Amino acid sequence: MKSTPLEHWDINTAKETYGIDHWSNGYFDVSDQGEVVITCPVNGAGSNDESKKVNVSLMDIIEGMKDRDLHMPVLLRIENLLDHSISRINEAFRSAIKKLDYQNIYRGVFPIKVNQQCHVVEEIAQFGDRYGHGLEAGSKAELIIALASLQNDDSYIVCNGYKDEEFIDLGLRAIQLGWKCFFVVESPTEVELIIRRSRELGVKPMIGTRVKLSTTVEGHWQQDSGDRSIFGLNSLQLLEVIDLLKDAGMIDCLEMLHFHLGSQLPSIHNIRQGVQEACRYYISMINEGASMGYLDLGGGLAVDYEGAHQKGDHSKNYNLNEYCIDIIEAVMQTLDPKGIDHPVLISESGRATVAYSSLFLFNVLEVANFDPVFVVEKPEDEANETLKNLYEVTEAMSAKNIRECYNDAIFYRDEIRHQFNRGQVDLRTRAMAENIFLSIIQRVQLLAPSVDYLPEELSNLREDLADIYYGNFSVFQSLPDAWAIGQVFPIMPVHRLNEMPTREAMFADLTCDCDGKIDQFAGGRKTLPLHPLKKTEDYYIGTFLVGAYQETLSDLHNLFGDTNVVSICINEDGSYDFMRELYGDSIADVLSYVEYDPKGLKDKFRKKVENAVRDGKITVATRKEILSAFSASMNGYTYYEHEQWS
Ligand code: PLP
Repeated sequence: MKSTPLEHWDINTAKETYGIDHWSNGYFDVSDQGEVVITCPVNGAGSNDESKKVNVSLMDIIEGMKDRDLHMPVLLRIENLLDHSISRINEAFRSAIKKLDYQNIYRGVFPIKVNQQCHVVEEIAQFGDRYGHGLEAGSKAELIIALASLQNDDSYIVCNGYKDEEFIDLGLRAIQLGWKCFFVVESPTEVELIIRRSRELGVKPMIGTRVKLSTTVEGHWQQDSGDRSIFGLNSLQLLEVIDLLKDAGMIDCLEMLHFHLGSQLPSIHNIRQGVQEACRYYISMINEGASMGYLDLGGGLAVDYEGAHQKGDHSKNYNLNEYCIDIIEAVMQTLDPKGIDHPVLISESGRATVAYSSLFLFNVLEVANFDPVFVVEKPEDEANETLKNLYEVTEAMSAKNIRECYNDAIFYRDEIRHQFNRGQVDLRTRAMAENIFLSIIQRVQLLAPSVDYLPEELSNLREDLADIYYGNFSVFQSLPDAWAIGQVFPIMPVHRLNEMPTREAMFADLTCDCDGKIDQFAGGRKTLPLHPLKKTEDYYIGTFLVGAYQETLSDLHNLFGDTNVVSICINEDGSYDFMRELYGDSIADVLSYVEYDPKGLKDKFRKKVENAVRDGKITVATRKEILSAFSASMNGYTYYEHEQWS
């Protein structure tokens, strides 16, 4: 397609086109130079003064990466944004507690599964320390991470998932060391194990129960909510757990109620309903003699990936303050009439904690478009009849007959293809026909907006004619949810935003897989306005809000490995430091992940090359070149490396 219908372009149009003000949560903006900038709060952790911000251009950071030999694609982590996200959640709960005069505190726990990367968890432990922000562990490995990372005794550890004896022992030891470490019981059999091991080790356990609420939620995981939820105890199982604890004389160890309505909850109404139902369980557990005191709301605080501010799989109809207020109100409205003390509120926000702090950058390698390649000229008199008919369509076309012309063009183009398949026309004739066809389609597309009633078959032309921008990345490695669950991430060029983007495009990645593409964008769009490539300049694209789940769910499709990772910290004066530079997987690394022995591969290849010397196919000097090229590849980056970088 030739151009977007826009006639005027400035920075504000750029911002609106890519929706940056709607999804960025105030963390990203576009500068007057047309570059995406990180608008970083530098007013000190925990402060509610949002006014002090500094801008750092992503292009400056990319230049810094180049100087350090950190090639695209790169995952960029911004420590300040993680710090700020943790503050935001804790401060929002604090101010809602104060506003509503709630008589207890809030404690957050970060679910490690959402981003298990060592540096991320370390930073969460560090930045969360001042709030006693703890960790949620869903496995023994995650509990080990939690025990090694948390320094603050006030931070909670919540153990979810199925727990064997080793898991339980580790948790009991954590209690011995002074942590508040809760076992969230997922099944009655687990309770028997907890009772036995706590007696044997002489440690009083802190027990919670995860209940299965009947409240169903909207959003991507709707089918897995309510009665169809695969986790949690139903009311019968909950009674079984209570009775087991009573029989063991340990009902006082039952202190927490946990529920998790689902991730990425788009509707505040569902959240409120869920909290109310959970509070009914909470009251019932107190009535059964449990000591209680803690209400764990699970995760689910959504991230507005689309910036639509409304219900939808990739958006939400509430903000953080409303989330906190509505939860606290629902708890108070249910518990107060029964005269029950307000519990400590715990939440396990994953996405909302880490999504904003990472973005993924890649360069575009090439573009495939559907523009005609040659100037369309009238075929010679003796040319193929169908080709001539096709050309006549171009002469007859006007806004009044575009549908007819479109149908005729398809008919003649297909007819030429049949003739080619039967060996009746040559490659040049077929290519001429395809070229004429593309020029007709382009004109149809240009004329379409002026037509009052656009036939259905023409309404998808924008997508059908969209360019394909080949990006230097793997969807499966870096944006796995875009492939697996159709997750929409904000995506846009990070520079040239003072130039009008004149192309409409989707992205394809480096894997030769039909699913290796991004063709879902905010607002249900299937294409994104982009700039034509320049010969001498890289074109950089940023995918934002990728800090949650993407790093840990990734896969080695086509053996594209972990990308380079850069972690920066922005200072109050707008300067920034490269805190960490992690080089991505080399080819030898990814080969070893799938059980190849890189050294063994080299030996095998060396023998083959040696044979070629013996057979006189190559000289010894060529042998040396071939072997050093092989070794260099083995140690190289798995992604496309091109000359401008070196
Ligand atoms: N807690 C539990 C038990 C979960 O299963 C999940 C994820 O689904 C979370 C917390 C994190 O949810 P979110 O990332 O939506 O906050």
